[in-house]
Amino acid sequence: MAKPKVFVFAPADPTGDAHKMLEDAGCELILGKANWDTPQGNNEDEMAKIAAGCDALMGTSIRSSPITQKILQASKNLRIVAKFTIGVDDVDVDAATEMGILVTHGPTESNWGGVAEGTITNMLTLLKKTRERDRYLKTTSGWRDMKLQGTFVGHREEDGYPGITLGIIGLGRIGSRVAKLMRPWGMKMIGYDPYVPDSKFQQFGVERAKDLSTLLKQSDVVTLHVVLTKETRHIINAETLAMMKKTAILVNTSRGYCVDEKALIDALQNNKIAGATLDVFENEPIAADSPFRKMDDRVLISPHMVSSNYGSGLKTGLLWGTQSVIAALKGEVSPYVYNTEVIDQWKSRFGGKSIL
Ligand code: NAD
Repeated sequence: MAKPKVFVFAPADPTGDAHKMLEDAGCELILGKANWDTPQGNNEDEMAKIAAGCDALMGTSIRSSPITQKILQASKNLRIVAKFTIGVDDVDVDAATEMGILVTHGPTESNWGGVAEGTITNMLTLLKKTRERDRYLKTTSGWRDMKLQGTFVGHREEDGYPGITLGIIGLGRIGSRVAKLMRPWGMKMIGYDPYVPDSKFQQFGVERAKDLSTLLKQSDVVTLHVVLTKETRHIINAETLAMMKKTAILVNTSRGYCVDEKALIDALQNNKIAGATLDVFENEPIAADSPFRKMDDRVLISPHMVSSNYGSGLKTGLLWGTQSVIAALKGEVSPYVYNTEVIDQWKSRFGGKSIL
């Protein structure tokens, strides 16, 4: 029997352990050009050519070519697309579901918990002017400057200061962890997520906003934690930015395309909002001449790595992805399936049929 073929379209296996696990299980591996630090790899035609005859595709995020219908159609044997990360917006999940292919992902706490911590770090860095204070001392001979004052975040019982309002769009894993971590700070927290029950808002101490515009009008910090879908693409645009307070800041650690960057750049350059911190961008890596690279301290950017921390990173997601591929090649379904609605169809195609 020929070895099952696994196309690793964006490898991210620094120790080689996951690749060894697959080879030891009897797979032939084909490695694509993209990887974690340069998510630009093979183009769609090249990917479709490589994917021909493959039984599994796996990898971290890929930006050069998403896993399109054309790539999925390149192999009749294809059982699974396994992502190491949480987001599957770089896979045509609808097409995969239609074709009876499993899409699995890696919502590991090291990833989503890391995003929540990174979100808060970036938000507080902006609000507390951490970088500005440090730079002032290192680049001038001065001491204090009134321009270096920060924002008091929580409410104060002593003088009745109410604190500022945090608006959380998307109360899933990351949004609710942000709420859990910020709750002791005593900020007022409001949230918008039509898909979670009231009980979840109550559990995390978040008041449910009547609608998105109410959240945008009331918040001093707006933080985005939605999945990228047709509905959330450019959920922050010229119109919704205009609803925000002029003094508010925007935090985006979800997906670049949730924000209309052109509109955001205009809002920042024309002081329509007070600042932004972004970990994700419409096109990654951002261009050398991206306007974001040239903005002042009102804007804090990071290279899509708020969740990257020593000792965590993609390690668990890579393991889950590898286990999902091995399970699928054995005719089994792993617990990490994203398009769960495909499972019955998949079982009727591949259930119990091992090719390992
Ligand atoms: P999740 O699925 O647990 O939560 C997403 C939430 O968004 C859900 O509760 C859902 O109901 C809500 N939602 C969907 N459509 C909405 C809408 N129109 N309005 C308001 N809410 C809506 O996902 P998660 O694990 O919390 O991840 C959130 C985002 O973070 C995803 O976009 C993911 O790709 C991204 N992410 C980024 C990084 C990074 O490195 N920056 C890492 C991991 C995940």
